[in-house]
Amino acid sequence: MQVFQGIGVSHGVAIGEALVIDFEGFRIPRHFVEREKVDEEAARLRCAVDAAVAELDENRQQVAAQLGEQYAAIFAAHQQMLRDRKFLGEVEKFISERHYSPEYAVSRTLRSYAKVFRSMQDGVFAERAADIYDIERRLLRHLLGRGREELSQLTTPVIVLAHDLTPSETAKLDPEFVKGFVTETGARGGHTAIVAEALGIPAIVGVGHFLHEVSGGDRVIVDGNQGVVILDPSEEALSRSRLVVEHRRTRDVEYESLRDLPARTLDGVDIFLGVNIEFPAEATASHLRGADGVGLYRTEFLYLGVDHEPSEEEHFTAYADVAQAMEGKPVVMRTLDLGADKLGRNTKVELERNPFLGLRSIRLSLKHPDQFRVQLRAILRASALGDVRVMFPLIATLPELKLAKKLLRDAMDELKAEGVPFDETLAVGMMVEAPSAVVMIDRFLPHVDFISIGTNDLIQYALAVDRSNPAVADLYRATDPAVLRLIKSTIDAADAAGVPATLCGQMSAHPTHTMLLLGLGLRGFSVPPGSIPQVKEVIRSVSLAQCREMAEQALMLDSASEVEKFAQETLYAISPELALTVEMGRITTEDSAAEAPQLE
Ligand code: PEP
Ligand code: MG
Repeated sequence: MQVFQGIGVSHGVAIGEALVIDFEGFRIPRHFVEREKVDEEAARLRCAVDAAVAELDENRQQVAAQLGEQYAAIFAAHQQMLRDRKFLGEVEKFISERHYSPEYAVSRTLRSYAKVFRSMQDGVFAERAADIYDIERRLLRHLLGRGREELSQLTTPVIVLAHDLTPSETAKLDPEFVKGFVTETGARGGHTAIVAEALGIPAIVGVGHFLHEVSGGDRVIVDGNQGVVILDPSEEALSRSRLVVEHRRTRDVEYESLRDLPARTLDGVDIFLGVNIEFPAEATASHLRGADGVGLYRTEFLYLGVDHEPSEEEHFTAYADVAQAMEGKPVVMRTLDLGADKLGRNTKVELERNPFLGLRSIRLSLKHPDQFRVQLRAILRASALGDVRVMFPLIATLPELKLAKKLLRDAMDELKAEGVPFDETLAVGMMVEAPSAVVMIDRFLPHVDFISIGTNDLIQYALAVDRSNPAVADLYRATDPAVLRLIKSTIDAADAAGVPATLCGQMSAHPTHTMLLLGLGLRGFSVPPGSIPQVKEVIRSVSLAQCREMAEQALMLDSASEVEKFAQETLYAISPELALTVEMGRITTEDSAAEAPQLE
């Protein structure tokens, strides 16, 4: 059994067979094959070799025609190597005698050759190792078929273990078959983590180098509660994990009874409890879970994973479906927040050195007004079908807000001229995610009908920590006193101006933060669908007076760790059962690798 620690970004525990995708996108297969499959596997190897030789032949002819025979010689050398009796004999022996899978046998053999070349003093020979790796990759490609693309065509349940998954790859995972995933890269605030929550599958990111320890088909436990991945678990770890899975199932059933109850504090104040969604299908599920509305619809997910620019009709269908599914409850449609880690295949951005400080979000929309107009028209058309509101992301300056509103007005004029119905009184809001927006909030408020605080970005910009970089993940803390002050001054200003404020960053999803946020004056939350019951349970168990007192004390603390600890203790004092549920599933504690040291 081996235990690796990462960052749990989507709760729950899953047990299953590993599907491993390495750095280059190859699926790493099982190390061994069953005795009766040995002949079949040897035949598979021969087919792959034939296919690789044929491919090399094509390459050779093409290059010879374009550049001349001398440049094509390299392909001939690779072909020779692939047909080499010694090489094939060794690989076949590994398969027949040791029952290695052809992929593993090929890698082992070729890597041992590469090692010999690498150890040679003569640089020219040492460079030959690169050719060996090239041959290995080519052969693996033919043995394995495609790597990542397979992810969307699974037919049996797996746990995906990958070096990296982009938000769009994650968005395409089918939760029916992908029971959980773990990545070597990534951090809590990245959009891969956010999509994992939307899919409702346990997920861990930022584990660091661990894929070399695992092969396809190995048994794995993903404990998203604690951010722990266990390879080849002991019987004891397995039975504890099964208990947690069972406990979660029981809690889910208990939570059913909360669905139709209001998110009302003990002293009778109703709190808006909305959901964050990325895909239209989530709207129906959220409505059924008892959400008060959609507080954040991340519309850019329409772009991720497709290779064409969505048409106005495609935009409209995605918005109309949500507006209708929510049956008159408010739906806040955030305009495109593309760029940084959310890149569609077609997104018009150059690679940037500092993408989170670059051409992303509203900046991208304002730079491409034609594309923006298509979206605005579709949102406006959907506003005829429900309580649709529009929100602009990452507003950092007043001119940006004014320009976005002007483009919205232009779209309205166009639709009016065409006689197309829309809600002329549609509410317009902005996200508060840049510290500049907090500092200038009094100047923004007269121009908007509502605001929503986006702590995922606000934390990264306030604390100067890239939200998706695991190397600085320990510095990315929602409870940092600086963040709390920014939230409080935003809410205070909004209250004074009579503008409703919600908070839709991931911070609002964690029940340990609920009292703190209520105490800071927040009266509107927007959380991932899976967090609704727990957050509602906390809201219904506390009074605002308790929360205010708690927040006042929290604001006097010096560090994120102190605030976090205090918030946990307060929740425990109010309701031990609730606090324990929040921490549900501390099953793997004894086996856990030491947690990364936290800065105080
Ligand atoms: C945020 O930044 O808090 C937010 C909700 O937006 P996103 O996570 O999509 O950037
Ligand atoms: Mg954001």
